[in-house]
Amino acid sequence: MFTVERHEYDVVVIGAGGAGLRAAIEARQQGKRTAIICKSLFGKAHTVMAEGGAAAAMGNVNSDDNWMVHFRDTMRGGKFLNNWRMAELHAKEAPDRVWELEAWGALFDRTKDGKISQRNFGGHEYPRLAHVGDRTGLEMIRTLQQRVVALQQEDFEVHGDYEAYIKVFAECTVTRLLKDGDAISGAFAYWRETGKFIVFDAPAVVLATGGIGKSFVVTSNSWEYTGDGHALALLAGANLINMEFIQFHPTGMVWPPSVRGILVTESVRGDGGVLTNSEGRRFMFDYIPDVFKDKYATTEEEGDRWYTDQANNRRPPELLPRDEVARAINAEVKAGRGSPQGGVFLDVSSRLPAAEIIKRLPSMHHQFKELADVDITAEPMQVGPTCHYVMGGVEVDADTGAASVPGLFAAGEVSGGMHGSNRLGGNSLSDLLVFGRRAGAGAAAYVDSLGAKRPQVTGVEEAHAEALAPLERQGGENPYEVHHELQRTMNDLVGIIRKENEVAEALQVVEKLKERATNTTAPGGKIYNPGWHLAIDLRNMLLVSECVAKAALLRQESRGGHTRDDYPAMEPEWRRKLLVCSAKPDGSDVQVVEKTQVSMRGDLITLFDRAELSKYLTEDELAEYDAAAK
Ligand code: FAD
Repeated sequence: MFTVERHEYDVVVIGAGGAGLRAAIEARQQGKRTAIICKSLFGKAHTVMAEGGAAAAMGNVNSDDNWMVHFRDTMRGGKFLNNWRMAELHAKEAPDRVWELEAWGALFDRTKDGKISQRNFGGHEYPRLAHVGDRTGLEMIRTLQQRVVALQQEDFEVHGDYEAYIKVFAECTVTRLLKDGDAISGAFAYWRETGKFIVFDAPAVVLATGGIGKSFVVTSNSWEYTGDGHALALLAGANLINMEFIQFHPTGMVWPPSVRGILVTESVRGDGGVLTNSEGRRFMFDYIPDVFKDKYATTEEEGDRWYTDQANNRRPPELLPRDEVARAINAEVKAGRGSPQGGVFLDVSSRLPAAEIIKRLPSMHHQFKELADVDITAEPMQVGPTCHYVMGGVEVDADTGAASVPGLFAAGEVSGGMHGSNRLGGNSLSDLLVFGRRAGAGAAAYVDSLGAKRPQVTGVEEAHAEALAPLERQGGENPYEVHHELQRTMNDLVGIIRKENEVAEALQVVEKLKERATNTTAPGGKIYNPGWHLAIDLRNMLLVSECVAKAALLRQESRGGHTRDDYPAMEPEWRRKLLVCSAKPDGSDVQVVEKTQVSMRGDLITLFDRAELSKYLTEDELAEYDAAAK
C-alpha cells in the first residue's frame, strides 16, 4: 500500500500560462472550486516569453480593421484548414479579452492619442498586435496572476481562507488523467521537489499545457514543452487533430550553438527589419507565392513606403506568413547563399535609429548583446528557422473547449483547429484569452450539469506504478540519450521539409525509441531528480512524435507547417481532410484517420472573393459558395 496526498476540486486546470490562468479565473468566477497545477514555477510558462503581442482587431491604429478582416487573415494564414468557428469566435472576441486585461491592470503601449497601440505582424492586414514593447507575455501573465490574487482576496473576505476557491499547485507534474468509466474523474501528479504523489479528485479537467517543441533539437521552446497535455488527452481517449502541422518560426538565433533556436521576434520585421542573403539581396521578393501575389509589394521601394503609407502600398514580403518565410530562408541556405553561421541576415540597424531600436525592441537588443555579443543597433543579426509552435492538438468543441471525453476540456496551444495549418504571429496570445475563458466556462457548465453526481476516482494504483517504474528499474537506458536521439530524428527527418522515405525512417526510429524508453532508469531517489522527470516525459514526447510523423506521412500535399518535398503543391482535396489521431490507454496502436472538414457557414465564406477561394477550394465547395452568395 502507498499513501498519497488527496485534494477535491470542481475544476482542475493543468497549466498556468495564459490559457490556464484565464480558464481558472473563469471557472472560479462561475463559483467553482478550482485548482491550477503547473510543472514549472508559477509564472514561468511560455506565455511569459511571448514578445510581439496579442492580435485583436480593435482598429486603434487603422480604423479599417474589424473582426471580419482578422477572420480572413487568420483563415488565409492557416490555408483555409482552420476550424472556421474557432477563427470566427477568436476574431470577434479578441478585442474584448484585451480590453478586459487592461481593466485588470495591464499596461499596454499607447498610441499618441492614448489608445492601446497596435503593431504590424506577418499575415495581418492592419497593425493589430496590442503590445508592451517586446515583453507582452510578461505583462499578460503578471495581469492574470494579479487577477487570481484579487479573487483570492475576495475569497478571504468571505470564507476566511485565501485558497478556498482557487489554489495554485506549482512545480507539480500531472502524469495521468483519471477516469470513472468514460468520464474524467481527476488527475494523478507528483511534486517535482519531493517526488511525493498527489491525487486530484475532480469531475472536470482543463488541459492548458502548451506545446511539444522539446521533441526537436532546434526550438524556441523551453523544457516544459514535452507535449504532456497532448499525450494525457490521447491516453484518456480523446483525439488529436492536425498534428502534422508544426510551425518553424523563420527567425531563431543560429549562433552561438548554446543558444541556437532562441526566438528573434517577428516584431523586428514588423518594425522594418529586412532579410538579406550573403549577396546582400532582399531575397523575400523572390518567394511571394501565387496565392499572395496581389497582397505583397513586388519592389523594395513599395515595400518600404508601406511602413508610412499603408493605404496606398502593399506590405513587404518579409511580412508573409511564417511558413513562407521559413521555407524561403531554408532554400537560401541550401542554395549556398546563407550567412557564415548557417542562417541569413536580419538587419534593423540600417532601418531605424539606435534609440528607436532600443525603445521598441529592448529584449532583442539585450538578448543579442548578452548571448552573441552582437549590437543589433549597429550590425545585422544572423537567423534561421526554429521549431516554435504546434498547430495540432486536442480536438475540441469550438464554443466550449470540450474534448470528446466527458469532463475533459482544452485551451491554448494544446488544443487544435483554431490556426489550421499555420498560425499567424500574435494569434496565440489572443487565442489563450478567448478560448481559455470559454474552456473555463465550459468546464463550469459541465460540473453544473452533473448535479450532485460526482465521478469516482479510479486507476490511482496503475498511475502510481507507471510513474515509479524508472526509479525501480536497474541498469537500464539513460533517458537523456533516448531524448537526444528523438530530437535529432524529428529535426532531421520530420522537420521543415519532409520526404516519404525520411518520415517512414523516423517512424521506425520512434518505434525503437518507444521500446528503449520503457527500459530507462533514473539513478537517485525521488527527491528532485531531473533524470526521473525526463524518463516520465519521454512517454509523452514519443507518443506525440509518433502522431506528428504518422500524420506527416499520410498528408500527401504541402500546406502551411507541413512541406512535402515529394508533394510540393497544395491540393484542394486535402483542404477538406483533417487527420485525427487516437491511441490505446497504454499508448500503443496509434491510429491516424481522415475526417472531412465541415463546410464553412454561408455568411462567413462569402466574406471572401470567389477568385481567392478558387485557389484553395474544390469545385464542389465553390458550388456551395455560389449557393450561399445568391
Ligand atoms: P504555456 O504558456 O506554455 O503554459 C503551459 C503550462 O502548462 C505551464 O504552466 C507548464 O508548467 C504547464 N504544464 C505543462 N505540462 C504539465 C504537466 N504535465 N503537469 C502540470 N503542468 C504542466 N504568441 C503570440 O501570440 N505572440 C507572441 O508575441 C509570441 N511570442 C512568443 C515568443 C516565444 C519565445 C515563444 C516560445 C512563443 C511565443 N508565442 C507568441 C507563442 C505563445 O507564447 C504560446 O503559444 C502560448 O504562450 C502558449 O500558452 P499556453 O497557455 O497554451 O501554454
